[in-house]
Amino acid sequence: MRIHLAKSAGFCFGVNRAVDMVYELAASCKGRVKTLGPIIHNPQVVEDLSRKGVGIISSPSEADKQDTVVIRSHGVGQEVYGELSRLAVNYVDATCPFVSKIHKIVRERSQNGDVIIVAGDKNHPEVLGIVGHSVGETYVIKDEAELLDCLEKLEQIPGRSITLVAQTTFNTNFWKKCVENVKKLYTNVTFFDTICNATNERQSEAIELASENDLMIVIGGKDSSNTKKLREVCSRYAPTYLIETKDELFQLPIRDYQEIGVTAGASTPAYIIKEVISTMSEMLNNQEEELDFAKLFEQSLETEKLYNGKRVKGIVTTVAPNEIHVDIGAKQAGIVPADELTDSPDLKPADIVKKGDEIDLVVLKVNDQEGVVTLSKKRCDALAGFEDIKKAFEEDAVLTGVVTNVVKGGILVLSNHTKVFIPASQVSDKRVEDLNTLLKQEVSFKILEVNEKRNRALGSVRAVLNAEKKAKEDEFWKNVEIGKHYTGEVKSLTSYGAFVDLGGVDGMIHITELAWTKVKHPSEIVNVGDVVEVYVKDLDPEKRRISLGYKKQEDNPWEIFKRDYQIGDVVTVKIVSFTNYGAFATIIPGIDGLIHISQIANQRVEKIDDILQIGQEVEAKIIDINFDAKRVSLSMRALLPEEDQKIVKEDDVVYSSEETQEVSETEE
Ligand code: SF4
Repeated sequence: MRIHLAKSAGFCFGVNRAVDMVYELAASCKGRVKTLGPIIHNPQVVEDLSRKGVGIISSPSEADKQDTVVIRSHGVGQEVYGELSRLAVNYVDATCPFVSKIHKIVRERSQNGDVIIVAGDKNHPEVLGIVGHSVGETYVIKDEAELLDCLEKLEQIPGRSITLVAQTTFNTNFWKKCVENVKKLYTNVTFFDTICNATNERQSEAIELASENDLMIVIGGKDSSNTKKLREVCSRYAPTYLIETKDELFQLPIRDYQEIGVTAGASTPAYIIKEVISTMSEMLNNQEEELDFAKLFEQSLETEKLYNGKRVKGIVTTVAPNEIHVDIGAKQAGIVPADELTDSPDLKPADIVKKGDEIDLVVLKVNDQEGVVTLSKKRCDALAGFEDIKKAFEEDAVLTGVVTNVVKGGILVLSNHTKVFIPASQVSDKRVEDLNTLLKQEVSFKILEVNEKRNRALGSVRAVLNAEKKAKEDEFWKNVEIGKHYTGEVKSLTSYGAFVDLGGVDGMIHITELAWTKVKHPSEIVNVGDVVEVYVKDLDPEKRRISLGYKKQEDNPWEIFKRDYQIGDVVTVKIVSFTNYGAFATIIPGIDGLIHISQIANQRVEKIDDILQIGQEVEAKIIDINFDAKRVSLSMRALLPEEDQKIVKEDDVVYSSEETQEVSETEE
């Protein structure tokens, strides 16, 4: 036979905290303690406290001057605090932090002019307390119909903002339906999901336990509504008995069952649960089990000392828009504010965790007074992430991260939940004028420095880019050879050539290699950013210098000339310059021919510019081509009718065309 105890059995943290406070006060105040209403719906606890001198009053006016009054976990309205102060009564506030939070919302929103609607039971002390913190118009609704009715009335005065909160034990399904429907009809309502999950969780676990066991024992006050609810849900799945103390076990047929589940209401103290478990073990004559359960239960109640910086594990119990609640196995409520979940402003708590997740956390603040432990996930992640950062530093590994902030002197990159500082000089291999352009970008970087004491790391994107560049260069030099063709981008121009990026390595095209014609500046042929086809003309691996060829053989004007022209052809040429012995004229770009002075006309020419002008186009005949010397001779005279071609010299000696050419070559 085995006994299975529900993890959520017994006090929720809010009740546990309140009861603990009363016991502590009872011990220190020598019995002058009064609770404002019964601290808990459990007759055994109330009786026990009464034996210790703790009384129950229903209003502050019933307290004596020497009394310390305890406000129970349900909380009270502002008027009760006012009365306690006015009467100068000492008091201790055991309001559950989750309830206090509702008080704060209601107070602040009503001060801002919002109409307050509370979803809950209008007679419940918690709801009365919540209403007592509103300074304006306030309504309590018990279901969706009442809510819609209330909103319809409020709509008659347009422009009013409405805040809707819920009693911590309000039915979750009702709440969801209310929110869904109201959202469709109204835009002026702000919802705060203030339902506490402790009750829901206890019921869900009880159902699970009941469906897996042959018998269920529910421990708790017979008048306690949440204990009665537990019995009701369990009895749908297994025979269920509700008992207040261990003594009632003897009337039950527990020996007839093999697997027995045990749970307890929110107002059942731990010692009663322990007594029941021990008695059941004895009855089942299973000493070993008893020891085990006793130990198990002790362990479950053990509250490890919490301190700032302590690392703990927590189970997510609630995911709200601005925070999550976690069970860290302590008596205090664990709260992780949204900005302690992550550094990423775009992520909401629901994007990061879901109910039931086990997460690693670090304690930021323990507030025993309020029964709350504030925790951080992101700092815990950062601690673990910092180990990865250290490892990357030791191994010179490349990390990636997203730029989250621009700070003085550089940027912060979030990587492995840790913010790494990258100085401005290290954000790129080029100067970055405006660091804001890097925001939200993913970057790869190496760690240059780690400060373990301060958990700080300094990184460099530049180091990664340089390493990549070096690897590319090495690869290039491994494969490069003279004659190899590349496609590259023109990176810069100088007066003597153009530098081309061949993929991590720059080569230079000398100005004379850019074109077959004369070029005054490289920009006449290429511009920065042009993608060009080049080939390696020469290289020096030691000095890592590469000379590139650009102009193509098929564009060589002598090749074109050889292909398209021959002696005897008549061409239209443009006069480009004069010399003492003739005029040079362009036949095609890159090929100038000489019209010797004797070939200009059929008479002696004294001054060439009397006949020709620079830029003038004339007809001429190709009379000689010397490809080796790269010379072309032209003649205008040869185009005259044959009888007019002879030159009449002053001494009346007449030369033939061939003779004059010989003369011209001698003169040259
Ligand atoms: S709000 Fe939740 S934790 Fe607080 S007393 Fe109520 S049930 Fe318990």
